[in-house]
Amino acid sequence: MTSETNPALDFTHDAAAESWVASAQGSVDFPIQNLPMGVIECDRGCLVACAIGEDFLDLAAACDDGLLPSLDEESLRALRAVDLNQWMGLRRSQRRAVRAAIFELLCADGRARDLPDEVRRKIVRPLKSAGLVLPAAVGDYTDFYAGIHHATNVGKLFRPESPLLPNYKHVPVGYHGRSSSLVASGCDVQRPFGQIVTEPGGLPRHLKSRRLDFELELAVWITGGNALGTPIPVQEAGDAIAGYGLLNDWSARDIQTWEYQPLGPFLSKNFMTTVSPWVVSSDALTPFVTHPLVRMPEDPELQPYLHGGDGAPELPDIRFEVHLSTESMRAEGLPPYRISRSSTASLWWTPAQLVAHHTVGGCNLRPGDLFGSGTISGASPGTLGSLLEISDGGRSPLTLPSGETRTFLEAGDELVMTGHCERPGFRRIGFGACTGRVVG
Ligand code: CA
Repeated sequence: MTSETNPALDFTHDAAAESWVASAQGSVDFPIQNLPMGVIECDRGCLVACAIGEDFLDLAAACDDGLLPSLDEESLRALRAVDLNQWMGLRRSQRRAVRAAIFELLCADGRARDLPDEVRRKIVRPLKSAGLVLPAAVGDYTDFYAGIHHATNVGKLFRPESPLLPNYKHVPVGYHGRSSSLVASGCDVQRPFGQIVTEPGGLPRHLKSRRLDFELELAVWITGGNALGTPIPVQEAGDAIAGYGLLNDWSARDIQTWEYQPLGPFLSKNFMTTVSPWVVSSDALTPFVTHPLVRMPEDPELQPYLHGGDGAPELPDIRFEVHLSTESMRAEGLPPYRISRSSTASLWWTPAQLVAHHTVGGCNLRPGDLFGSGTISGASPGTLGSLLEISDGGRSPLTLPSGETRTFLEAGDELVMTGHCERPGFRRIGFGACTGRVVG
């Protein structure tokens, strides 16, 4: 693999651009500067789509009508596919060309200006009429632990004197997760059964989890392309990332406590993981790339394979919010209550460093692989990305506007994660929502 280009601003980031799609004007998540890719399920099966305002562009229909004439055959095939794996497998220059072609089709003074209304209505349809599914067939899913405040907060619960383990600032810690139980936003989550020790020193019993938690994470969609035995250098790792989304790594803390030593989480995590359906491309995020966390003189020197040199690894500056609503809150008409606000500024490792580390031993990545960043918490109250931290290990219940309290999630609770990027001079873009309701 060779790095094709450094991130560069182009006409698709122009804040003044507007779309002829009425719902895109003033859209906080999906203006024409975003153009996130996803997969819609409809009576014709699954098709590749792009969100625009409260509508979607049917890319198969746009290809059939010859409305993306600048694209090569391989790119057109990817847009006619039933998932985004082929799109993710394109070269970055091809994905960038796809973005430019869609922009030209949807912008107010672009290619569709003279299209008859019936063609416009055929290619752009309301999102509310569509079912969104997982954007890719995920071959492999890896979950990291790159949020340093989360690692510190959780470490404090067990080791108040030295919360971070000695390896933390040297090596991006991760484990291989389960791809079959990845679901798209909106799926109900069943509280899992597992072996749980209810009394200190007692024997495990087969019980339904009483400590069901969420973890706010960044989803990183991988383009892959490295052959087995061939690492991806950190300077080129940005090209191995197709885009980003939101990820909720549902976690059964009571099952996790008993099972995780010595090989790490297993049934406490593999019952379900929710991802947001829209893939916000790396190229849409170009205006929002920022510097990673500053390392202090006392921090260990980075291994050369994790050091980006002058071409600093890309870190998109993404702000997150998590809202919780209970059944009673919804019955009383109370709005969802915000329980966390955080951002990618809390990541010790950038997504590019995660790619470089994952492949440095020769592991091959494939288009449609998914990384979770690890829980993203800030350093202060109100910025914590899991109930384990918010409730201080279950010791300090959270009080909700309904007067109810929560240490962990209960039946009927609904979690909504959102994310967005903003910067003066550019249009705000958003990630949509990653939601799930606890049943049973
Ligand atoms: Ca996790």
